[in-house]
Amino acid sequence: MSSFTDKVVLVTGGANGIGLLMGKKALQKGARHLIIWDINLEFMEAAKLTLQNDGFSVSCQMVDVSDPIKVNEAAQMVLQEYNKVDVLFNNAGIIVGKPFHEHSSEDISRTIGVNQLALMYVTNAFLPAMMKSNSGHVVAITSSAGLTPNPGMVVYVSSKWGAVGWVESLRLELKKTHPGIHFTNVMPGYIGTKMFGGITPPRFMPLLDPDLITSKIIDYVERNKATLKAPNLVKITTFARGILPTALYDFVASKIFRVYASMDTFKGHSDE
Ligand code: NAD
Repeated sequence: MSSFTDKVVLVTGGANGIGLLMGKKALQKGARHLIIWDINLEFMEAAKLTLQNDGFSVSCQMVDVSDPIKVNEAAQMVLQEYNKVDVLFNNAGIIVGKPFHEHSSEDISRTIGVNQLALMYVTNAFLPAMMKSNSGHVVAITSSAGLTPNPGMVVYVSSKWGAVGWVESLRLELKKTHPGIHFTNVMPGYIGTKMFGGITPPRFMPLLDPDLITSKIIDYVERNKATLKAPNLVKITTFARGILPTALYDFVASKIFRVYASMDTFKGHSDE
């Protein structure tokens, strides 16, 4: 059981969306201090003010998590002050949301940088302190897009497949030598935040409620659960891809669940 009581919690991308909700919930569960890393100064300051007004201890750092130098500099400051981060939420993520051939090389490297490489940079910076005490919890907010192909989000899918493989393998690697460090890989379907604004939810898979899914994530972290797939239909994805011929899987995903058309109406954050 990983209780949040008296813990130091860091959330990347914690100024908005589910990152902000997870940070708030960790504080409500008794965390001693919340550190928010984000690139949106305005949202970060607003989040800090609101949470401080509620009586919580919160600090913010402007950190582009895809920049390993900035990550290490900021992590050193955190470690000097708190010795270690107890619960690390690797949450920051971006989606470009256009066909692959329209991506610039900057679109590609930025998406892979934020959604995949950053998880490694940030975790690498805080893992040694966790290993020293054989305690801590690393959360990776990956995606159900890490389990299935999906047109319209090709680079995003690529980054999330990579992130899923990384965190699942790291969990096993550390299990042998540092069983006190826990991992939770969160693979949600579409959530009702602005990130995927405008998308058409797949059939039988309504948008996840940000409040409900973040409560579930917090609960899974407290119970040291290794994986969270939501909604329940996500649980059959890997199995279905494993046993069905590709053409049949594509038919089911496309025609029955209408996953492959979900990005056709994507708007993202554009209406903010
Ligand atoms: P969001 O866009 O509401 O919030 C993302 C936050 O990350 C923002 O505050 C943004 O400023 C920050 N961020 C972006 N780039 C950054 C960078 N380089 N460095 C630091 N911070 C950065 O998104 P959300 O819906 O809350 O998604 C959070 C996570 O959940 C992402 O990793 C996303 O891929 C994943 N996810 C989202 C959905 C969904 O439908 N929204 C579904 C599955 C997984």
